[in-house]
Amino acid sequence: MIVVQKYGGSSVATTEKVAAVAKRVAKRAKDACVVVVVSAMGDTTDELISMAKQLCVSPDDREMDKLLATGEQASSALMAMALHEMGSKAVSLTGGQAGIITESTAGKARILKIDAKRLREELEKGNIVVVAGFQGITDNASWADITTLGRGGSDTTAVALAAALKAETCEIYTDVDGVYTADPRIAAEARKLDTISYEEMLEMAGQGARVMHSRAVELGELYSVEILVANSTKDVPGTLIKKEDPEMELRNPVRGIAHDTDVTRFTVASVPDKPGIASKIFHTLASKNINVDVIVQNVGIAGHADVSFTVHDADVEKAQKAIAPVVVELGAGQLILDQNVAKVSIVGSGIRSNPGYADRMFTAFANEGINILSITTSEIRITCLIERDKVKAAVKALHQAFELEKA
Ligand code: ADP
Ligand code: ASP
Ligand code: MG
Repeated sequence: MIVVQKYGGSSVATTEKVAAVAKRVAKRAKDACVVVVVSAMGDTTDELISMAKQLCVSPDDREMDKLLATGEQASSALMAMALHEMGSKAVSLTGGQAGIITESTAGKARILKIDAKRLREELEKGNIVVVAGFQGITDNASWADITTLGRGGSDTTAVALAAALKAETCEIYTDVDGVYTADPRIAAEARKLDTISYEEMLEMAGQGARVMHSRAVELGELYSVEILVANSTKDVPGTLIKKEDPEMELRNPVRGIAHDTDVTRFTVASVPDKPGIASKIFHTLASKNINVDVIVQNVGIAGHADVSFTVHDADVEKAQKAIAPVVVELGAGQLILDQNVAKVSIVGSGIRSNPGYADRMFTAFANEGINILSITTSEIRITCLIERDKVKAAVKALHQAFELEKA
């Protein structure tokens, strides 16, 4: 039986915590073959990014990947040493050594394939295999480049390995007890869920619930890997991410609330209202691999319209650089950036078939005096862009309005 366990950055933040995790892993390894995926220790990734920015205004993507991958290489080697000290057989591998081959897009490379030969050999030798999360290589060759999978990407490493190894379970250990109805750090009344469907978790993750990396959930669904999210320090039941079951229909149509404060709104003001404008703007951003969300084009007045959209804060500089020449080329008025915004979403597969949820959401905001800047929806989600300093009040108001504290 193969088990894949992933431990996040806060769970391995100090050598003491690494030793504590090693103890749990060694115990699990008594009756299973264990692959452990680790994140970088604590805030290492943020610290590495900050060092790069001290030396260079816009660091080269390739060098950045090489730098950031070192965080997980350090924690994986330390974990293997901690296991050795406890008398366990263990070996640490980089993402490349674990056979994780990715596309070459730096910073958020997608996994193309996994050659699990080395992993299997090490497991057969009786080793606990500790894999550096969040990274891969561009080719199965010594000249290949090191890539990273995007912030939070160690979750994706774990699910991808679980799929490749056809593991019995994939366990994501973190600093909270599981997936909650809202971020427990901002809504004290948030309730831990026993299960959540892939579809719902994907929307939650995509809208800022960083407890799971969205691509990890996508892979889980694609390869039917059930994912357990649980606490790395306590022995309490976590949350199982799995296929929607019929019983789920009987419960609250809204499953949870996600929020994201790391977004910036771009407005390309007063662009000529004619075919091809949106295509030009969004093609430029897509070609730089920048994700955009909450796209709004207002009704044109006097042959001109405003186009606005949000991008993740980490992509702001890149997006600004890419879009500035387009603004000139299109003859648009100006480019306006607003960082005082945040997204708040309600998510639930029941939203699809229950009318009136948008009304309840907007009424909850109105009662709190929260202004809605723009709105987007999917089949199972409604997202509002609001002012950033209203986020906490917004999450609390929605939690109450949809009675999410009730099981
Ligand atoms: P790790 O370092 O283990 O990968 P992360 O910081 O990436 O951990 O994710 C865990 C954090 O996600 C929690 O500390 C919590 O604040 C946040 N979070 C946001 N939304 C949720 C949610 N709905 N349920 C649980 N945690 C959430
Ligand atoms: N260390 C990386 C990050 O901080 C990847 C991860 O933790 O999953 O984003
Ligand atoms: Mg994470």
